Amino acid sequence: VQAIEAAESIEGLAGVVRELVDESRAVQDLVGQAQQRMASDHARARALEDQVRALEDELRKLSDEVGTDALTQVANRRGLMQAFAAEAARREREGADAPLAVGLIDIDNFKKLNDTLGHAAGDKALVALAAAVRQRLRPVDHLARFGGEEFVVLLPGTALPEAQQALTRLQRALSAALFMHEQAEVFVTFSAGVTEWRPGETLESALERADEALYEAKRTGKNRTCTA
Ligand code: GH3
Ligand code: MG
Ligand code: MG
Repeated sequence: VQAIEAAESIEGLAGVVRELVDESRAVQDLVGQAQQRMASDHARARALEDQVRALEDELRKLSDEVGTDALTQVANRRGLMQAFAAEAARREREGADAPLAVGLIDIDNFKKLNDTLGHAAGDKALVALAAAVRQRLRPVDHLARFGGEEFVVLLPGTALPEAQQALTRLQRALSAALFMHEQAEVFVTFSAGVTEWRPGETLESALERADEALYEAKRTGKNRTCTA
């Protein structure tokens, strides 16, 4: 009786083991299928990413050619150089008595904004800031994106004290929220350095002075405009 019982349970055991093996095979199949699906999704995502990157490159190339920054739709470096060349030429023609203020704007703590809200929100901030500044400048003024989170303004017919006032006014205007991100208001400030272009000098040379003034604005607490 005991032997029969033993035989039965060994047989039963073998059945259980067989079931387990079958089950684990089925699970392995499912895992394999899921892995294959993930791999193909992944490949598709990578192909799409490549496509988007290629389009972005194309857009950047085109916008370089037309002098407009693809993200913010204000002038890029090339557009800035064109605007500056026109302003400098006009001053040479008409005598160099009309001042030209050159301002350098740099967003405050932008890395932190990117880090806390994400790169897309950072991009949104750049677009919103460019629009807010552009909207408050005079039509004769030039605004250009100079690099990552830096902008340059050229203010024709504006002497240094007025230029500083104008930039300070812009800074105050930004005390209202700049844009919304996930139903929350986002505030952005910038620091600025401004100088007067000296007849005969290059834009780069004026920008070096503006950059020194900008550095002073950063060093002395940000969200302010210094002159050089
Ligand atoms: P500070 O107040 O001293 O200016 O500090 P900051 O964080 O603004 O300056 P920092 O130079 O350390 O960081 C600039 C950041 O700007 C780092 C970079 O990732 C970011 N950035 C540059 N270009 C872009 C862009 O096109 N989009 C986004 N989202 N971020 C950008
Ligand atoms: Mg910077
Ligand atoms: Mg900055």
